[in-house]
Amino acid sequence: MSKVTLKDKTFRVHIPASDINKAVGEVAHRINIELKDKKPLFLAVLNGSFMFASDLLKKVTIDCEISFVKVSSYHGTSTTGSVKSLIGLNEDIKGRTIVIVEDIVDTGLTMEKVLKELEVMEPAEVRICTLLYKPEAFRKKFDLDYVAIVVPNDFLVGYGLDYDGLGRNLPDIYVLDN
Ligand code: 5GP
Repeated sequence: MSKVTLKDKTFRVHIPASDINKAVGEVAHRINIELKDKKPLFLAVLNGSFMFASDLLKKVTIDCEISFVKVSSYHGTSTTGSVKSLIGLNEDIKGRTIVIVEDIVDTGLTMEKVLKELEVMEPAEVRICTLLYKPEAFRKKFDLDYVAIVVPNDFLVGYGLDYDGLGRNLPDIYVLDN
């Protein structure tokens, strides 16, 4: 399927499934080497990372655990704007090696909130693993440890990413077709 229509918009293939698979394999390979003997706890941020987390973890061969969290957004007062907070974390992460698994880092705001919330729980270290990264949009200072694919500042869907709830099930990644 080189083009798909979701609601009122048409998208064309930007990254085929075979390229995604290769990039995910490369990230898993690095994790297998760098986090050997650390028994990392992967924290997959739902909903967007479900497909990436599944494919990644199938290629991670070291001892590890995985848990799933969400970032809930709600509107605070006019001075605080939109507030994001991490929900669903039941594990004690003190002293552990954490790998946050995200679908995409855009401005970096979401990841910054997640990092701040995890920090107070005193993990030994927190690494960031993202399928996609938009350097042109990124506005924060922290390092991204594992980036599978660098993408331009365009709106993408598929492989977990949605347009108004649709398209998460697509095996390829698509870009808006103007
Ligand atoms: P950030 O906080 O880094 O600006 O944005 C992160 C979140 O914005 C992602 O987890 C994702 O939900 C959403 N997002 C950013 N860029 C895209 C995109 O190109 N496509 C889709 N579907 N969502 C995106």
